[in-house]
Amino acid sequence: MRSYNFSVGPSSLPIEVLNEIKENLFEWKDGMGVLEVGCRDQHVLSLIEEVKHLLIDVMSIPETHEVLFLQGGGIAMNSMVPLNLMKRSADYIITGTWSNKSAIEAAKYGTVNTFVSGGSYVHICDNETVDGIEYKELPETYGVPLVADFSSSILTKSIDVSEYGVIYASAQKNLGIAGLTIAIVRKDLIGHAMDITPSVFNWKIVSENNSSYNTPPVFPIYVAGLVLKWIQRSGGVEEIEKRNKLKSDMLYEFVDSSDLYSAPVSLKQRSRINVIINLNDNSYDDFLEEAKKSEIYGLFGSKFLKPHIRVNLYNSISVTDVEYLINFMKKYEHNRQQN
Ligand code: PMP
Repeated sequence: MRSYNFSVGPSSLPIEVLNEIKENLFEWKDGMGVLEVGCRDQHVLSLIEEVKHLLIDVMSIPETHEVLFLQGGGIAMNSMVPLNLMKRSADYIITGTWSNKSAIEAAKYGTVNTFVSGGSYVHICDNETVDGIEYKELPETYGVPLVADFSSSILTKSIDVSEYGVIYASAQKNLGIAGLTIAIVRKDLIGHAMDITPSVFNWKIVSENNSSYNTPPVFPIYVAGLVLKWIQRSGGVEEIEKRNKLKSDMLYEFVDSSDLYSAPVSLKQRSRINVIINLNDNSYDDFLEEAKKSEIYGLFGSKFLKPHIRVNLYNSISVTDVEYLINFMKKYEHNRQQN
């Protein structure tokens, strides 16, 4: 039996996607499994094109922007962004753990200001996975390109890509599995990399080589394709967004009405994706143990913050999964009151 997996990422995948992977593991094309086909094979080149166009379709990416398939995760992007875009300085708006990490890394390459000061770009983290904080309105950048880390929120809501200079995300939360990093870059921002930029991190070189300058992460790209087709079948990002809103509304509403649980993030900032919950009697270890007995996993919070639990509501988590979790939380609260 599959458990209820609320992990922070990698996270659960839709069951249809897992079944398709299983089928193609042994025989995908020409009697070869999907893990085994050579990176210069026409099937792989076609796969890269197909997945790129699926992403363009699902996110309505305009022609002004280029899609790049990269590696190294959100962490590598912390270097890649300044290497490709920074002249002397850049502005980093700090809202939590990940944007802070991005700013620290960027400071190796130039001056980092933590306010909008007219640097080469303004960097934000759309959804702070650790702190459970999400942007509801974009900051004013006065024409300076906006660069956004969407590692935990890509494809969870409709966005207007034209408002961003760069959108980047690692794939393992809402776009498949670890190993693929995507960057959606406004074309006029490609071609300005610092001389020291490693070739494999240089967006111009990657773009000219159709995301295959080095061996592309074929399997994660293939899985991303399956996830994107699943999103299309589910009614597109608009439907996914409605479902995500419903899921997080249900959970926050329950937590706000409870005596045992509370949500520390202010209403205006609350993430729909990573829900931070406090247990007012501090029974965190017991809560996690009891959750396991109900086949619920992945609820532990970050060790860098005060004790809390974190419920990660990525796209593959269904409304039924959230109902199951809320029922467990209700029972747990009831049992604590009896003791
Ligand atoms: N940014 C955000 C918002 C994240 O949630 C994460 C991963 N949890 C990262 C960056 C780092 O991504 P990776 O581990 O794939 O390098």
